[in-house]
Amino acid sequence: MPDRTRHENHTAWQATVVTLFPEMFPGPLGHSLSGQALESGLWSLDCIALREFGLGRHRQVDDTPAGGGAGMVMRADVIAAAVDQALTKQSTSNLPRIYLSPRGTPLTQLAAKELAAGPGVFLLAGRFEGVDERVLEARDFREISIGDYVLSGGELAAMVLIDACVRLIPGVLGADASLNQESFEGGLLEYPQYTRPRDWEGRPIPEVLLSGDHGRIAQWREMRAREMTKTRRPDLLAPKTGKK
Ligand code: SAM
Repeated sequence: MPDRTRHENHTAWQATVVTLFPEMFPGPLGHSLSGQALESGLWSLDCIALREFGLGRHRQVDDTPAGGGAGMVMRADVIAAAVDQALTKQSTSNLPRIYLSPRGTPLTQLAAKELAAGPGVFLLAGRFEGVDERVLEARDFREISIGDYVLSGGELAAMVLIDACVRLIPGVLGADASLNQESFEGGLLEYPQYTRPRDWEGRPIPEVLLSGDHGRIAQWREMRAREMTKTRRPDLLAPKTGKK
């Protein structure tokens, strides 16, 4: 039975996305757990179509980069018009404003947890060479990256961020216990998982997992999680420095 506490006592977690491609949404977010949660009102999605705020007959949203160079830049005035109209809704005015950008601070599980615990997110998805810096400053956008690579647009990045948050909203996943042992919880990657059949192509499930001894199973999982983290992501085990 999903926990509806948040939905009944508070407004649902809200995602507002300013985008040139509103038709891309909800896309994958409309399926499976996030889709069911959207349908049941645990979160809500509002897309602002940037093209509607474009200039002239062609509803132009971009222009050539000041100083020259390749590509086009999204105009500050057009983005501001879309953002300002969206912000007239009381429910969006208190959402953290985030521009999805490869220059941003990396999206982490901790960041997703913090955003999921808040009222929602107000996202700006870029296209072309990105957006005029002035609108980011003037409308107080922070920047978040979903990884060290360049996508063609911010829509997929927005979906990734929303998905990472939505599954953390109470009631979206069946068992809270499954969240506690996932990768990045406790600073480790998850241990390897197995299910039936007991033997597959000559590869048996590790005996300890069939022993019924919960103490030994927990020990084995911890050991495997540490091994995997050490070989694949030693950076997660390194002591964190730079904290002031
Ligand atoms: N010229 C930009 C640069 O070098 O940083 C890249 C622009 S990219 C082609 C177009 C849009 O995709 C960006 O404005 C941003 O919204 C989105 N984007 C691309 N890579 C991303 C990433 N790693 N994380 C989040 N958003 C990304």
